[in-house]
Amino acid sequence: MVIFTEDKSIHLQTLDAGAMWASAYLVTCPETNESVLIDAPGKPEKLLEQVRNKNVKYILMTHNHSDHIGALQVVHAELKIPVGGHAADAPKYPVALALELNDGDTLTCGQNQIRVLHTPGHTDGSLCFLIGKHLFVGDTLFPGGPGYTASPDDFEEIVSSITRKLFSLPDDTIVYPGHGASTILGKEKDAYKAFAARTHNTRLSGDVLWLKS
Ligand SMILES: [Zn+2]
Ligand SMILES: [Zn+2]
Repeated sequence: MVIFTEDKSIHLQTLDAGAMWASAYLVTCPETNESVLIDAPGKPEKLLEQVRNKNVKYILMTHNHSDHIGALQVVHAELKIPVGGHAADAPKYPVALALELNDGDTLTCGQNQIRVLHTPGHTDGSLCFLIGKHLFVGDTLFPGGPGYTASPDDFEEIVSSITRKLFSLPDDTIVYPGHGASTILGKEKDAYKAFAARTHNTRLSGDVLWLKS
C-alpha cells in the first residue's frame, strides 16, 4: 500500500508482510530511488519482491521482537546491505548489526536525512526514525497510548522516551507505528496531557491507554 503524502521529497509504502506480522515500511527518495526498509517482519519472499526495483541502502530495525524480525535473516542474506539497530537489542537479532545506531545519529538516504531517536521502554534498544515530518516508532507509541511495557520501571521509561524525545517534535508530525494505523503527534500529545493530569496507580504497566488507564 502506498501512503499518499503531500511531501514530494519522499515516497512511503507500507509493505505487505502477512497479517500475523508487524508492518514494514519502505521509504524512498524519488530523486535517486535510494530507499530504506524499516523492520523486516515476515514473508521474506514477498518483502523482497516489493523492494526489487528500489535501491535499498539500509535495513533499519525499530526493535528486536519476533514479530518485527521474522524475515530479517533471509532479506539480509539476499540484499547484503547493512542492518542498523541499537546495541541493547543486538543479542536477539538474527544477524549482526553493521550499523550500531545511537540517539541523535543521522543517516542519509538519497536526499532525505534520517534522524535516529533512542526510545527505550518497550525494549531497551527501541529506536524511532524521523524522516522529514514522518516518524516511524515501532512499538514505542500507538494511537491512544504507549507500547506494551513489562514492568512499572519500563512504563516510566517509555513515558520518559515519549515525552522527552517524541513530544518535542512538531504537532503535525505523522506517526507510523509497528502495527495498525498512523496518527498525528499533536493528537497523542493532547491524549497524554489528559493522562498526566490524573493520578495513577504507581504500579502501572502493560497495555496502557492514555484516556482509560
Ligand atoms: Zn510489534
Ligand atoms: Zn514489540
